[in-house]
Amino acid sequence: MSHYLLLIIAAILLSGCTKGKPAPTANNAGNGTVQVPAFSGDSAFAAVARQLEFGPRVPGTQAQEDCARWLQQELTRYGAVVTEQRSTVTAYDGRTYPCINIMGSYNPEASHRILLMAHWDSRPMADEDPDPARRNEPVMAANDGASGVGVLLEIARQASLRKPRAGIDIFFTDVEDNGAPSSWTGPHNEEAWGLGTQQWCREARRKGYKATYGILLDMVGSGDATFYREYYSDYYASDVVNHVWKTAARLGYRNLFIDRKGGGITDDHVFVNRMTDIPTIDIIDTGMDGEGTFYPYWHTTDDTLDKISTETLRKVGDVLMHLIY
Ligand SMILES: [Zn+2]
Repeated sequence: MSHYLLLIIAAILLSGCTKGKPAPTANNAGNGTVQVPAFSGDSAFAAVARQLEFGPRVPGTQAQEDCARWLQQELTRYGAVVTEQRSTVTAYDGRTYPCINIMGSYNPEASHRILLMAHWDSRPMADEDPDPARRNEPVMAANDGASGVGVLLEIARQASLRKPRAGIDIFFTDVEDNGAPSSWTGPHNEEAWGLGTQQWCREARRKGYKATYGILLDMVGSGDATFYREYYSDYYASDVVNHVWKTAARLGYRNLFIDRKGGGITDDHVFVNRMTDIPTIDIIDTGMDGEGTFYPYWHTTDDTLDKISTETLRKVGDVLMHLIY
């Protein structure tokens, strides 16, 4: 994803026309407590580590093919109905890349559905690396990619142990992180990010796919993570943000899910909001508008497994589990 610093004037203009969206429905209305299975941070961590064993999951490499096969095997093993969308996408510089979107669905017949997303590709170049000599190397993407996928694979494992009542669609998006590097002198278009998601949105519209709401996970594994209310999430889906941040607060994670406005990030959720009717938020490690604590190893060769915290993964997963069950 890319940093996108918002002008105050734009924020004022946009705040006047926020779309009204229905609130997500609670699934424990009425008769008392619902037992929520315990999310395992260790299992999520293992799923992050396994992805890294393939090497950087850069589109067009053997690691992409190998990891795609593994992700499908895992979802199948956990009882999901697995679908794959293969296509070719064109990057900011005109180069084309194979794109493999993968979805694992539970309760495909349920009308109340939650769309859970994370990008599984690695950025081909570490353009933010402090060492200029390493900026052409791929990013290992332990946090910026694999962390969200790790959490969702553990959700899938939990769904195989106890079937949720809601429909769940776990969507691993490809070629999210192939936007122009900061050194690129050509145009910097938002549409150069989230290429796999844009492909999927076109098909979702054609097929009439529906979900009640969507949650994107991106950079959810750092030990120092903070999740502010990301700007576009609040703009398109503030009810969903409220629901998620209130759930986190109830679970005692106020210091992780901080109930304050954050900056705007061009990420997969922006395209889902713009191209479909699904109000979708981004849980992403970022600070306040421009002045914040963006994950410091973002788009560097240091985005590696040692930055991943089992506790952060567990807390994010626990929030999702309470939304699902
Ligand atoms: Zn990224």
